[in-house]
Amino acid sequence: MLIILLGAQGTGKGTVAGILSKQNNWVQLSTGDIFRENIAKGTELGVEADKYISKGCLVPDEITVSMVEKRLEELKNEKGIILDGFPRTLSQAEKLDEILANKGEKVDWVINLETPREEIITRMLNRRVCSNQACKATYNLVLHPSKVEGICDICGSELIRRADDSDSSAIEKRLEIYDKETKP
Ligand code: AMP
Repeated sequence: MLIILLGAQGTGKGTVAGILSKQNNWVQLSTGDIFRENIAKGTELGVEADKYISKGCLVPDEITVSMVEKRLEELKNEKGIILDGFPRTLSQAEKLDEILANKGEKVDWVINLETPREEIITRMLNRRVCSNQACKATYNLVLHPSKVEGICDICGSELIRRADDSDSSAIEKRLEIYDKETKP
């Protein structure tokens, strides 16, 4: 079972993917999470990806597609995979079709999440995430605050702001890129 979650930043792809994967024992494949893990560990992929992510730009397709292809191969025995944040360009979507066709597989479901733009910006400015990479719980200062301010309810680690949520010009840029590159 392969499911794609589409939608602009801040629509809740990660949250919905997390719920679905937990309920069904599926694996969530979030390209944003993989990049952030690599940035935190300072890997070659992380250093390269950070050049784009910190400016609110998309990481180039060659880097992103080969990373997803490798991860899909590692997950080939899983009963369900939810793609969260991929594909994000037409070229990535076409490459995904090719990768799957070569394995005799296809996409089963595509879920498109829609949220009004003002709501998205407010959500991104108020988003806080758990700094523990193994937990990655997401909170919202207004809609879904943690019980103790700045501390994750689940694992007790510090809550932080995602670097690319901290700067409103980077948020605007990401939404512009969504309209231009992803929406089609
Ligand atoms: P996300 O956590 O999905 O919002 O992703 C965070 C950032 O990672 C994005 O703003 C992009 O810079 C980068 N990224 C994530 N997924 C992709 C993708 N499929 N293609 C290119 N860049 C991506």
